Amino acid sequence: MEDNIFIEGLKENNKEKLVQVEKVDLHNHASYSCNRQYLIKKGINIGNEKIQDISSLIEYSRKYITPIKATKEGLALLLTGTFENCINTGVKFVATNIDFKDCIRTFDSNISSFIEFLNEFRYDSLDIKWILEISRDSYKSEYKELVLRMIESGFFAGIDLVSTENVIPNKEFICFYELANKMGLITKVHAGEQLGSDYIKQCIEDFEPKEIQHGISIVEDINVMQLAKEKNIVFNVCPTSNIVLRYVKNIETHPIKKMCEYGLKVTIATDDILYFNSDINDEYLKLYNNSVLTAEKLNEIRKFGNTIRNRY
Ligand SMILES: [Zn+2]
Repeated sequence: MEDNIFIEGLKENNKEKLVQVEKVDLHNHASYSCNRQYLIKKGINIGNEKIQDISSLIEYSRKYITPIKATKEGLALLLTGTFENCINTGVKFVATNIDFKDCIRTFDSNISSFIEFLNEFRYDSLDIKWILEISRDSYKSEYKELVLRMIESGFFAGIDLVSTENVIPNKEFICFYELANKMGLITKVHAGEQLGSDYIKQCIEDFEPKEIQHGISIVEDINVMQLAKEKNIVFNVCPTSNIVLRYVKNIETHPIKKMCEYGLKVTIATDDILYFNSDINDEYLKLYNNSVLTAEKLNEIRKFGNTIRNRY
């Protein structure tokens, strides 16, 4: 039944039908995944600057979002908006990133009160798994003990290394992946968005991740694709993000097509809705409307996402 509604929804360009069908979002950043209209309705100034590459995104984020995140009330507002967006678009399961630095900034490094705060977010129609986000750009070795303790808490379903690829060598972060893998958590890494397939290979070898966020440059090298396939790695791909940030020229040439043709496991996800003015259903529709993937293949990807939520 759901299969038919989803396929019809794509073919008829009918978002109402797509909303009705169960989906997951496995590449989502909780502080940046509400939509702009939600914040405007709350009377928050979020400007109207256009995001056209990674530097304008960072500038925008520092100007408008970081100040909101600095208070518990502000952070709660962003997270509520994120989860309302999931519910309104038919996402039933979200693996969402939360920056470990929010614990430092907003909770005075008190892990228990940070976890208590996150634990308040519960919804009947949405299953939330928290992924501890570690930003390469703002990481310092003095944070190591705190991050290890946060992983050890057992509250987080996984970890994810984000932002500028390889700005700090991977070896700084291996201890986190060793611990998380040993604990059976979902290990993810942002890789192959900005850098090429060599860096994806390096991340696979260094971190043994279960999932790669983006990973689109993998299509450059069949050997790395083979390695990812053998390791059963899942790629959580966000087409609009790749295009807005100019890592992919246009939707028609998006590498997800080649990734699927090679038989890599992929899911379709949103990344940062706040910046990209898209949602999970738009992502599926864009891929269908531009003949990147067929409605049947997109439905298969949707269902695959629903099956792997059990690993979390
Ligand atoms: Zn991301």
